[in-house]
Amino acid sequence: MSDPGMTYAAGLSERYDRVKAALPPHVRLVAVSKTRSVEEVQALYALGQRDFGENYPQELKTKQPLLPADIRWHFIGHLQTNKVKMIAGFVHLVHAVDSQRLLDELDKRAEAAGRRIGVLLQRHIAREESKHGLDEAKLEAILVLREQGAWPHLDFQGMMGMATLTEDLGQVQQEFEGLAETYRTLPLKYPRACAGFDTLSMGMSDDAPIAVEAGSNMVRIGTAIFGPRGA
Ligand SMILES: *Cc1c(COP(=O)(O)O)cnc(C)c1O
Repeated sequence: MSDPGMTYAAGLSERYDRVKAALPPHVRLVAVSKTRSVEEVQALYALGQRDFGENYPQELKTKQPLLPADIRWHFIGHLQTNKVKMIAGFVHLVHAVDSQRLLDELDKRAEAAGRRIGVLLQRHIAREESKHGLDEAKLEAILVLREQGAWPHLDFQGMMGMATLTEDLGQVQQEFEGLAETYRTLPLKYPRACAGFDTLSMGMSDDAPIAVEAGSNMVRIGTAIFGPRGA
C-alpha cells in the first residue's frame, strides 16, 4: 500500500481487534492515548472506541476540545491538586486518587462545574517506593470520612492499582490478587462509602492478562493498541 495513512489505520485496526479479542466481555477497555496525536485518537474512535486515558493535564486539556464530545476521558496518571481545574469540567473518571487533598479539590471543582466526577482510589501495591498510591491506613481514613458523607460531588466507583515493574510474574499476580481482595472486602466494612463500587482498574499492555485473571474489570492499554510510544 502506498498511502501511509491507510497502512496506519490497518495496523491500528488489527492491534485493536487483537486486544479486544483477548478481553472477557465484562472487562472494560481504556485506550491509553497519552503522547498520541489527535489524528491517532480519531482513528481509534472511528473503530468504535469511546474510553480514552491520559496522564498529563495540559495534554488532555488541549486534546479534548479537538475530539468528539462523547469520548469518556479517563485521567489515569498522578494528578496534582493545582491541575485539577484544567480537566474538572469534562473528565469522566479519575483513576489515581491518592490523597484527601486531591479529593477536596476534585469535590470543590466538581461543584463549581455543576457536575459529578467519578473517582477510583489508588492503593499502593508495588514494591517500588516511586509508585503513588494510598497505604491501608490512609485508604481507610478516607473511607471513614466518606462513610459520613464527605465529598458529596464525587462518585466513588472503585479502586486502581499498578503492579511492580518486574519479570517476576508471580509477584505481579500476588499484588493484583491482594488489591482484588481489598476491593471485594472493603464494602463489607464501609457499605455506604463503597456502595457505588463497580470498577477495579488494574492491568496495562504487559500485565493485563494477569490482572484480569486476578479480578480486574477495567484495563488501561496503550502500547498494545497504538504501538510503541515515541516510535
Ligand atoms: C501509560 C500508562 C498505561 C498504559 O501503558 P501501556 O504499557 O502503554 O499499555 C496504563 N496505566 C497508566 C497509569 C499509565 O501511565
